[in-house]
Amino acid sequence: MSEGATELIACARAMSAAGLNKGTAGNLSVRHGEGFFITPTGMDYASLEPADIPWMSLAGESKGRRKPSSEWRFHRDIYAARPEAGAILHAHSPFAVSLACLRRDIPPFHYMIARFGGSTVRCSGYAPFGSQALSDAALAALAERSACLLANHGMVVFGRDLREALSLGIELEALCEQYWRACQLGQPVLLDAAEMAEVIRRFQTYGQQAPE
Ligand code: 13P
Ligand code: ZN
Repeated sequence: MSEGATELIACARAMSAAGLNKGTAGNLSVRHGEGFFITPTGMDYASLEPADIPWMSLAGESKGRRKPSSEWRFHRDIYAARPEAGAILHAHSPFAVSLACLRRDIPPFHYMIARFGGSTVRCSGYAPFGSQALSDAALAALAERSACLLANHGMVVFGRDLREALSLGIELEALCEQYWRACQLGQPVLLDAAEMAEVIRRFQTYGQQAPE
């Protein structure tokens, strides 16, 4: 079996260990060839072996002994629409879900919001889990962003690879907690458009791959 399936299982277990998902909530995928590997629907990650990991084409045909995640539509549609996406994480993490239930975009209360591509992390409209309407709503909320909240549901985040998708998922959950905590004390002071534009500019050269 492919290395991609083994790495997917390791990352899915790390996602649970990081507290992003409990039980069989959430799912994870990684681009592979002309399609992607995706976690199977309704299975505990602890018991997964590589042969349990379905591969799907961008046309939505799946191969393997298990049914793919019920959310394969938004995974497929993100890979098709966003060439920069190499791995996609979906979680029902506690603070992201709490904010998603308020159906609120996360405003620029902290400069790290810009890590996801803009001055907000949007919350999508509501649609039932597993539906094409949910995928359409997620894609709209992800315009020019690498993350969004799903109304009354959770979060979606993507990165260049599994490692980046996991670290961005952990960062987004931390930001949701920080925003929630700040709101307990009052109205957070928001960064303005010029301040966020400067942060977005700085993020273009942040990290090891493009030293200043
Ligand atoms: P799956 O087990 O089908 O991946 O579903 C979990 C989920 O989070 C649905 O939104
Ligand atoms: Zn879900």
